[in-house]
Amino acid sequence: MSISIPKRLCVCLCRSQVQCLTTIWRFSRTPRLVEFFQGTLAHITDSEIDTVRIFDTTLRDGEQSPRTSFSYDEKRDIAATLDEMGTHVIEAGFPVNSDAEFESVSDIASATETTICGLARVVDTDVEAALDSGVGLVHVFVSTSDVQLADSMHASQEEAVDRAVSAVERVKDAGVEVMFSPMDATRTDGEFLSEILEAVDDAGVDWVNIPDTCGVGTPTRFARLIRKVRAHTDAQIDVHAHDDFGLATANALAGFEAGAAQAQVSVNGIGERAGNAAFEEVVMAAESLYDVDTGIDTTRITEVSRLIENASNIPVPGNKPVVGQNAFSHESGIHAAGVIENTDTFEPGVMTPEMVGAKREFVLGKHTGTHSVRKRLEESGFAPTDEEVRTVTRQIKDYGAEKERVTIDVLTRFARENGVDRKKAARSDNDDDGHDDTRPDNSNSTDSDPDHGEVRI
Ligand code: MN
Repeated sequence: MSISIPKRLCVCLCRSQVQCLTTIWRFSRTPRLVEFFQGTLAHITDSEIDTVRIFDTTLRDGEQSPRTSFSYDEKRDIAATLDEMGTHVIEAGFPVNSDAEFESVSDIASATETTICGLARVVDTDVEAALDSGVGLVHVFVSTSDVQLADSMHASQEEAVDRAVSAVERVKDAGVEVMFSPMDATRTDGEFLSEILEAVDDAGVDWVNIPDTCGVGTPTRFARLIRKVRAHTDAQIDVHAHDDFGLATANALAGFEAGAAQAQVSVNGIGERAGNAAFEEVVMAAESLYDVDTGIDTTRITEVSRLIENASNIPVPGNKPVVGQNAFSHESGIHAAGVIENTDTFEPGVMTPEMVGAKREFVLGKHTGTHSVRKRLEESGFAPTDEEVRTVTRQIKDYGAEKERVTIDVLTRFARENGVDRKKAARSDNDDDGHDDTRPDNSNSTDSDPDHGEVRI
């Protein structure tokens, strides 16, 4: 992807040929130019995490989001994309739920390369449906907290253990890999958690998933729990964090730090209530901050995020990490000027838009400075003087302060009102007919959203 233009040469080219700036940077940059541990984190020399496996539950917990329902075709598309990206496990659904769900899980299992997982309660009909669907991993779960045993499952601790062991044994007898989840583990009595984990361990369980079902874990406490679980099972450990307090990704990463091999995530973090740990956050934190090779094709993260946004009907907030519209956007003068000179100044450096298949944007508005305005005017084919740039910048700031969007037409109008000359090189043949060309020169990497024409670079 990257070509070897030395940084010094790149900057030189950018300054003399502003229109090519973004394009040149995109191809000259290699990931991780900034070593974040050169600063206050310099004492960190080794990653605290060895292995990061990604278990995606967008199609199961994600689809349980209120008011979300994926069609059969959407499920197939989502699974195919996640499969192609290298996701280690895809939980495709809850086969006993309906004939349609059974069919989609079964079809996904036969159409994908990766491991497909089917969910099952610890009851025979669920386990048989999961096995019949042809999945490579059956995920059985039972409530273990007092509150859920009493008021959701209406069963005793002994019944929970017996059913869990039977379910695990049934899946193992069928020769299929099995994962066991003590649901609501973070609110479960510690001794009982140890007891049920040892029981399923004796039954030969392959994976133990520790769910923070109601999102009450904190990173340090959750890590402590995972270390304790390790002492009571020989199975590999998986974690399932919920985002009720915005800690899902932090808890998943704390789980990895404590020895978990896998985390359950969903694209855009969709799922029950506030959702799950977000696929894109966990993967990029692992790759960029912990320097772990997840094996995931991160360049398709933006694509899969848009796919889920459309299919789930849950809009991604602009400030959402990694995939939000603002994740790599800059408006304020100091930040934009810094990033125009060197993207590492006000971005993480260890994560670039290219790494996630996104584009960097410079938005014009209330907070804009002259660097962005000059850049945008020049990319639109103008040759402004310094004074003209200052004047147009003042107008844009006033306009943006009125909550108005600075569209291409607005920018062009300001330029014309101030008599800004057009650059000869940027003129098209049509300019000779005497009409003003109000369209920007989009021959480089400049983007303008056709929906609202907001000026972005
Ligand atoms: Mn969940």
